[in-house]
Amino acid sequence: MKSLFIIKYINLIIFAIIANIPKTVTDASSSVNLISLYNSNDKITVLTSQNFSSIVNQSGTAWLIEFYASWCGHCQSYANTYREIALDTWTWKKIVRVGALNCYAGKNEAVCRQYDIRGYPTLRLIPPGTSSDNTSKGIDIPAMNANAVEKGLIKELDKMHKKYKLWPYFTPVNRITFEELYSRIPPTVKVLLVIAEKRDDFTGRHIMLDFSQYREQIAICRTTTDGKLWHKFNINLADVPALFVIFRNGTAQRINIERNNNSNIDTGNLFNNAIRSFIHRTNFIDDFNDHDLEEVILRKNALKNAEKKQKVTENKTKTDEIGDNSTVYRKVNMVDLELALSYMFREEVPQMKDIQGKAYDALVQWLSVLTKYFPGRAPVMAYFQQLLLNVNKKPLGFSGSQFRDMVDMKISNAYLPNDHVQYQHCAGSAPQYRGYPCALWLLFHTLTVSQYQVGSQQINVTEVPLAIKNYIKYFFGCKQCRDNFMKETINISQLDSQNKHQAIIYLWKVHNNVNKRLQGQISEDPKHPKVQFPNRYLCTTCKSINNSQNNDDYDISKTIDFLLDYYSRKNIDISLISNKSRRVEELSSEQERLVSTAEYKAVKLQRVAYKNENLQHVEYRSEKLQHEEYKSEKLQNTKHKEEISQQVESTNSLMRILQHSSLYVLIASIIILVLFRRRFCKVKTNRYII
Ligand SMILES: Cc1cc2nc3c(=O)[nH]c(=O)nc-3n(C[C@H](O)[C@H](O)[C@H](O)COP(=O)(O)OP(=O)(O)OC[C@H]3O[C@@H](n4cnc5c(N)ncnc54)[C@H](O)[C@@H]3O)c2cc1C
Repeated sequence: MKSLFIIKYINLIIFAIIANIPKTVTDASSSVNLISLYNSNDKITVLTSQNFSSIVNQSGTAWLIEFYASWCGHCQSYANTYREIALDTWTWKKIVRVGALNCYAGKNEAVCRQYDIRGYPTLRLIPPGTSSDNTSKGIDIPAMNANAVEKGLIKELDKMHKKYKLWPYFTPVNRITFEELYSRIPPTVKVLLVIAEKRDDFTGRHIMLDFSQYREQIAICRTTTDGKLWHKFNINLADVPALFVIFRNGTAQRINIERNNNSNIDTGNLFNNAIRSFIHRTNFIDDFNDHDLEEVILRKNALKNAEKKQKVTENKTKTDEIGDNSTVYRKVNMVDLELALSYMFREEVPQMKDIQGKAYDALVQWLSVLTKYFPGRAPVMAYFQQLLLNVNKKPLGFSGSQFRDMVDMKISNAYLPNDHVQYQHCAGSAPQYRGYPCALWLLFHTLTVSQYQVGSQQINVTEVPLAIKNYIKYFFGCKQCRDNFMKETINISQLDSQNKHQAIIYLWKVHNNVNKRLQGQISEDPKHPKVQFPNRYLCTTCKSINNSQNNDDYDISKTIDFLLDYYSRKNIDISLISNKSRRVEELSSEQERLVSTAEYKAVKLQRVAYKNENLQHVEYRSEKLQHEEYKSEKLQNTKHKEEISQQVESTNSLMRILQHSSLYVLIASIIILVLFRRRFCKVKTNRYII
C-alpha cells in the first residue's frame, strides 16, 4: 500500500513537470511541412509524398525534378537558378514539366529514398510514364547554371525523343531533299521552319521545344552540314545557325537574326524573338498567342531585379554583433544536438542506398566517436552503444532502409529521442535558415572539446576530426558543402599529435573560414550574420582586433580557454530536454496502470536508467522517501523485536522463578510431609499404647 502511494506521488510530480513544458517546444514536423523554397509564381510544381505519384508517375510528359533539402545552404543559393530554368522551359511544358521536392519536409524523405537521392540538390529527369515501382530512377542532370542544365536536358530529351510520337523530331533531316520536305509534315501545318546549324549546336532543338505547343501549325526541323538540305541553302559555316522559312509553293526565305553584342541574350532567345515577330508580321497563324512567352519574360526580369536588390542588401556592411542580450547564444543546447543526431541517423544516413565498404567504416568510426565522447544522457549513450553493437554484427554492411530499421530499435532504457522540437540555439529567423547544419557544427565542436576533456594525457588528436570528415564525405546531404569541406580539410591528418588542443583549434579555424566564405550568400540568415567566432560579446579578450575577419587576429590561448568552456558539458543547456522527454510521459502513464509488484519492479529498474537525467531529483526524492520509509520500518521492527524480546525475557525469568520456586515447594512439601507423617505416627503409636 505504501509503495503504491509513493508511485502516485511520483506521478503527480511528473505530470506537473510535463504540464509546464514551455510553449516554444512544438511539433516541428508540422512546421517542416511548411518549408518550400518555391511557390506557384515560380512555374515550379511543388511536389510532396502525397501528390508525387498522381502528378509524376504515369504522367504524359517527362519531369525535371529538383530533390533538395530546405536546410541546405547550397540549395537555397541554387533556388534562383532553378527558377530561371523553370521559366526558360515553361513553354516546353507539353514535353517536360518542372517540379521540386523538399526531402526535409513531412514524409517526403521516403520519396527521396525511393529515388536514391544521395545529395542535395539533385536534378533528375523522369521520362513520361515512369511508374513508382519502375526500377529506373530517372537520369541525373548536373545542377549547374541554367544554360548548362537546359543543354543537359535537351541532350537527354534528344536521346529518348523517338519513343514519343508527339515530341519534336530532333534528328537532323539530312537524307531528304528540299522538295520532299512538305510531304513529310501534316497538312495542318502552316509554316515550316528549317534551322541550319552544326551537329552539336543546341539552338535548333531549343527552338523546337520553345514552339512545341504549336506543333499542329508550326513544324520545325534542323539540318546539319552533312545533309542534302544544307547544300540547297548554300550557306557557309560562318553564317550558322541560320533560320529559313519554307513555303508550300516550294520557295524559301532566310529570316534575318539581329545579332547584337549583348552577351546576356543567348542565340536561342534571338531566334525565338525572330520567329515570333515573323509570325505576328505575316499572320500565318490566326490564333497565335504568345502570352506564355510574355509572362515568362516579365517574370525573368522580376527575378533578375530581385537578385540585384538582394545583392545590394547583402553588400551593406555586416556588423560583428549578434547582440549582447541574446543569451541563447551563450549556451549550447542539448535539444539542438539531439535533433541533429536524430535527423542524421533517421534521415541522412538511411538516404544511402547501400552502406558498405568505406561508407560502413565511416559509420562505425562515427558511432565509436559518439559512444566515447558525446556528452549525452544515459539512455542516449546506451542507444549509441547498442547501435554500434548491432552495426558491428554486420561487417558486410546493409542497405539504407535496413539501417533505418536498426535505428528504430525498441529498447526501454536506450533511446534517441525523436520528439519533434524546434531548434533552440540554431533557430533561424525563417524556416530555411540555420537548423540542421548549424546544430551539426555545434555537435562537431562539442565532440572535439569533449575528447580533450575526457581523454587521458595521450589523446589521438586526429580521431574526432577524421570521424567528422568521413561522416561529411559519405553521408552529409549538401553536395557542394561536402566538396568544399573536403578541400578545406585536406591537411587534416597532419595535425600535431603532441598538442592536445589541435583538434579544437583546427575545427574552429575551418569553421571560421567557412563563415568567411559564406558571408553575404543567400543562405545567410539576415538576423544572424556570418561573423568570425567568437565575437566580442561572447569573448571580450579573444580578439585583438575588433571586427576582424581573420583567424590570425585571435589570441589563441584565450580562444582555447573560451572554446573549452563554451563547448563543455556544463555549458550545455538541458532544461528543455528534461521537461519534455516523451519517455517520461510514457513511463508515468504506465506507472498508473501498474499494480503488481513484478511490474513495479520493472518500472523501478527503468527509473534507475534515468538516474542521470533531470528526473534525478524526482527519483532522488522517491528513493529518499523509500529509504526513510525503510528506515522507519526498520526502527519499528527493532522496537517491536525489543518489546517481544523483553516479554520473552520476562517470561523466561518468570519461568525460571517458577522453576526454582517449584523446587522449593517440592522440598518444602516433602519436609512438611515428613514432619506430618512423623507426628501422625506418634499419635497412632500412643493410641496403641493406651
Ligand atoms: C561541415 C559543413 C560544411 C558546410 N559547408 C557549406 C557550404 O559550403 N556552403 C553553404 O552554403 N553552407 C555550408 N554549410 C552550412 C553553413 O556552414 C552553416 O551551418 C549554415 O549556413 C547555418 O549557419 P549559422 O548562421 O546557423 O551558423 P553556423 O556557421 O552553422 O554555426 C553554428 C554555431 O556555431 C558557433 N560557431 C560559429 N563559428 C564557429 C567557429 N569558428 N568555431 C566554433 N564555433 C563556431 C556559433 O555558436 C554558431 O551559432 C556547411 C555546414 C557544415 C556542417
